[in-house]
Amino acid sequence: MLIDSHCHLNYKGLVEDQLNILERARQRGIGLMLNIATRESEWDAVLDTAVREPDVWATVGIHPHEADDHPHIDTAKLIQWATHPRVVGIGETGLDYYYDHSDRQRQQRSFRAHIAAARDTGLPVIVHTRDAEQDTLAIMREEMEKGAYSGVIHCFTASGAFADAALDLGLYISLSGIVTFKSARDLQETAARLPLDRLLVETDSPFLAPVPHRGKSCEPAYVADTAAFLADLRGETLEDLAAATTANFHALFAKAA
Ligand SMILES: [Zn+2]
Ligand SMILES: [Zn+2]
Repeated sequence: MLIDSHCHLNYKGLVEDQLNILERARQRGIGLMLNIATRESEWDAVLDTAVREPDVWATVGIHPHEADDHPHIDTAKLIQWATHPRVVGIGETGLDYYYDHSDRQRQQRSFRAHIAAARDTGLPVIVHTRDAEQDTLAIMREEMEKGAYSGVIHCFTASGAFADAALDLGLYISLSGIVTFKSARDLQETAARLPLDRLLVETDSPFLAPVPHRGKSCEPAYVADTAAFLADLRGETLEDLAAATTANFHALFAKAA
């Protein structure tokens, strides 16, 4: 069994064909999927899917791209929604200085509000970071000083040094289909040496379909291709990698039981 630790089942590209997409994932042995929220207007739909499907869990959060549009989402609001029995994580949140779709200060404020909600609820925070390693790390460290929280760096593409720093903070690292891309040499080097007990796998579908599905819309079933590639890269059996990433998911997202 494998777990897709990060997918967007309510995004265009997946939502229209959601039932078939879930069925194809089950047929490939995907035992659980974590349906990730990115803006307030989709929270109800993301939760509805998790209520309807026993193998789908949900998060609540505001993507860094959406920070400008959600100045009213604070820690209290996140905590309130996190009490829902199907919500097992806070996010995705973080910093994206590559696209800069939202003001950087607002992204930072929103990121800190999510971490505070994670700390308060004991649920892990799902961190998105792109071209923002320094600030992401500085905020994660400062917030850790204020009080412990758990979390995962999702769709990891940052440097090896950033991976080491995140691991030092006790965080997990989730790899997406990007690791299968021919151009991802540096990422593959880091992925090969990450500790097995901190590793998760994800699709981030409908984006980033792994080899051999590139160019197609991504879906949770494809996490099996990423896992197979990763096992080969690391010199492990797929069974061992699947067992470890599943155990890691349950250790981190303990509410998904
Ligand atoms: Zn993301
Ligand atoms: Zn995402």
